[in-house]
Amino acid sequence: MTVEKRLNIAIVGAGPGGLAAFIHFRRLPNVDLSVFDAAKELKEVGAGIGLNENTWRHLQLMGVADQIEQYTDRADGTAIDVENRNGTTGKLISRKYQSADPNLPAKSRIERYKLQNALLSGVPRDQIQLNKRLINLEETDGGVILYFKDGTSGGPFDLVIGADGIRSVVRSYAFPDHKLTYTGKLAYRILVPQENFAHIERIPQGSCFWHTKLTHVYTKPLDNGLFEIATRALVPDIDGTKVSWGHEVSKEEVGYCDTIRQILDVPDRWLEFALFGGPRLHSVIHGGRIALLGDASHPLSGAFGAGAAFAFEDAYVLAQAIAHIQKTGDSVGTALQLYDDIRGPHYEKLYHVLDGFADIAKEVEASSPEIDDNEFIEEIVQKGLHGDTKWIYTYDERLGQIDPAQGEAIQSIAAIPKAVSPAA
Ligand SMILES: Cc1cc2nc3c(=O)[nH]c(=O)nc-3n(C[C@H](O)[C@H](O)[C@H](O)COP(=O)(O)OP(=O)(O)OC[C@H]3O[C@@H](n4cnc5c(N)ncnc54)[C@H](O)[C@@H]3O)c2cc1C
Repeated sequence: MTVEKRLNIAIVGAGPGGLAAFIHFRRLPNVDLSVFDAAKELKEVGAGIGLNENTWRHLQLMGVADQIEQYTDRADGTAIDVENRNGTTGKLISRKYQSADPNLPAKSRIERYKLQNALLSGVPRDQIQLNKRLINLEETDGGVILYFKDGTSGGPFDLVIGADGIRSVVRSYAFPDHKLTYTGKLAYRILVPQENFAHIERIPQGSCFWHTKLTHVYTKPLDNGLFEIATRALVPDIDGTKVSWGHEVSKEEVGYCDTIRQILDVPDRWLEFALFGGPRLHSVIHGGRIALLGDASHPLSGAFGAGAAFAFEDAYVLAQAIAHIQKTGDSVGTALQLYDDIRGPHYEKLYHVLDGFADIAKEVEASSPEIDDNEFIEEIVQKGLHGDTKWIYTYDERLGQIDPAQGEAIQSIAAIPKAVSPAA
């Protein structure tokens, strides 16, 4: 049975998750879409973003991958994909080459605005209402009303998709007890012209993680003559003021090890990102009409370098769940439950992997108390590499495996991503 009733859907936030939601929902029949974003204009901070296998496949799924293709490197098997090095000695611990398999998606790291532009190519600009900062929601019998800072309101909506990022107002409304906390880590990132590094010998050409005992520096030449550096530093929040995101600081404020000082000495300025996280939400839906996705649903603080892909996956599954109830005649609430049932276990596994990373250092310390710092670094990197994390970056395999006790409907939705993989 096809549902004739039109669905009035609001997407709050026009980041990667909100834009992906728009692209997928726009393909459904009988939906009216409104997208609201707090920003006056949509622009990205000057940083790089990694496109993993699942990111790429979802870009294909959304029909915007060709916008990115020009920035990708089709590997011939000799290009270095990723290296792990001891950040204090420079010693190579592991190296992986990019696959030359033409059937595998391109793997690349590009400036974030290019990803956003690719997504925007699938969204008519006049569909996004800017300068609309959501401040409150109200659930009524007729739907959810949205209230904005400029004094206007919208709705009632049959479905509100909270894609409003890590400090989600939708999440605060639906789950008032969920609190974000500063993780104790600051990320410093910057893009600098590669020529500024010409005097430094043997700069790795692929992604390189330079590990120290407590953290790491990440370096990567990008597609367009820029060089990306990202560091993480442990900085306690002494005065409770760590709220920064892309806040500019002088280079003296960025503390790090001496070994890659030459690299770190090049930039004159950095963008500082205070990393916040929160406990896993066991459910990301509320009241039969509200669903969270992307960073709003799971603030992972960039832990896997794949947050955009997770947001894409969420948007895709949520749209498929709505498409499913449009066929069965079930309620929006049923679709949201399907969405939660599919994505919940996936995120549970991600959080489990994060806990595992944290445990590795403790295990190494406990099992080899006499170990020196260099051996410690090598040991934790090797142990980390041996964990099974490939599934995180291969977007659809897990969805296809979620089944037994959960019923026919979930299986039928979960089967869809397999059918649309690029190889299909
Ligand atoms: C240091 C770091 C490195 C990362 N590196 C990578 C990487 O290499 N690869 C990768 O895939 N991911 C990476 N990520 C994660 C990635 O940036 C996020 O997961 C991704 O941006 C999430 O997209 P989103 O749409 O859910 O949220 P966001 O990108 O945060 O977008 C939210 C949108 O909502 C809007 N908004 C916010 N509040 C309101 C409101 N009240 N009303 C209306 N609109 C609102 C904002 O203006 C914004 O446009 C990294 C993250 C960090 C912190």
